[in-house]
Amino acid sequence: MTLSEKDQLYNWHPYTQHKTIGLLPAIVKGEGALLWDEHDKIYIDAIASWWVNPFGHANKVIADAIYQQLTTLEHVLFGGFTHDKAVALSEKLISILPSNQHKIFYSDNGSTAVEVALKGALQYYYNKGEKRTKVIAFEDAFHGDTFGAMAASGITFYTEAFRGSLLEVVRVPVPTAGNEARALDALQRLVTTGEYAAFIFEPLVLGAAGMVMYQPEVLDQMIALCQQHQVFTIADEVMTGFGKTGKTFATDYLVNKPDMMCLSKALTGGTIPMAITTFTQEVFDGFYSDDTNKALFHGHTFTANPTGCAAALASIRLFETPEMQDNIARVNAQHLAFQNRISQHPKVKTTRVLGVIFALEIKTEGEESYYGTMRNKLYNFFIENGVILRPVGNIVYILPPYVITDEQLEKVYRIVEQAVDMI
Ligand SMILES: *Cc1c(COP(=O)(O)O)cnc(C)c1O
Repeated sequence: MTLSEKDQLYNWHPYTQHKTIGLLPAIVKGEGALLWDEHDKIYIDAIASWWVNPFGHANKVIADAIYQQLTTLEHVLFGGFTHDKAVALSEKLISILPSNQHKIFYSDNGSTAVEVALKGALQYYYNKGEKRTKVIAFEDAFHGDTFGAMAASGITFYTEAFRGSLLEVVRVPVPTAGNEARALDALQRLVTTGEYAAFIFEPLVLGAAGMVMYQPEVLDQMIALCQQHQVFTIADEVMTGFGKTGKTFATDYLVNKPDMMCLSKALTGGTIPMAITTFTQEVFDGFYSDDTNKALFHGHTFTANPTGCAAALASIRLFETPEMQDNIARVNAQHLAFQNRISQHPKVKTTRVLGVIFALEIKTEGEESYYGTMRNKLYNFFIENGVILRPVGNIVYILPPYVITDEQLEKVYRIVEQAVDMI
């Protein structure tokens, strides 16, 4: 039996309808932007394994840091203890985050980072005895699959079955070009009610919605509105963090900084699952009390796992090297050139680029669904041609590891062009 066949016997995959899907490629090796399957077929990983891997697969620098840590201190409980790597990582993060961020809370994945932020906002007001129990989020947002994160997410088929069990979240439009005033009006109406604890958003790019982009100026206005009405702002930078938008964080494009930030995905260079929620001193102070009950009662067994922290420290060091910054600029320049070339294509409706993110929308007759026929046809075409891309409905996006070579990137562009011709 092949690995793929055995997989089908035992495994239940994420976001997968097993009745309608065939055998899945079994990946056995990775290097740089490339992956090898069990039959030695090579794939270009053009989405950085779901946006986690900027520095290439099986990166030696991060692997060495992990090995060193595993043979020094693999784990110690963070409830009641601390350790050198958590201290070093928090100190490093505080030095690169917006200057209003003062406290670092560790967890395991993007969804838990969001849970912690939501709890931070809701309990802050509970501790104060103020009734602010609702949250504001964007239509089409994605913040993860645990219950709080799911409540904040607006992609309805992900969450429909659980609607009755979710935190109350009210949505505002995404302020894409032409929709700014509508979004601001909707937000204004909500924040003035005094019922909302927080506004959570993906800054500048909504990833799972299909790399939907909007401008920093309108987000600055939205944050200012929230600040005027004591509604906390939560920037979910799980996808955008660590260079994806061309700056370290998407919030680096803003004048007004959020109260809380969520980081995960690229945090450890795609190696160890880890996440971070960051807070202003003001939020932290809302929990700082002689009363034990006012503490943030949230934690995970592997909170601030030293191996994860060591991987993150090594990743951030790699991220900050001039070579990696040059890679980000290089990928961005290639994307812009490709955008020029493809935007003239009669089947292309729109294109957009920010940092290492490229997206194009294919013209369609009607509404293309998330996992619809066009999406599946495109996806299968890419996989057959050895390129890993996961279109969202009729949107094809590229978000490669920063270390992808020009030749590999050119192959990805060529396959995307062929796909647009074919569809
Ligand atoms: C992926 C993602 C999450 C969820 O992260 P997981 O690690 O998959 O739980 C949350 N927010 C954003 C913006 C994401 O892209």
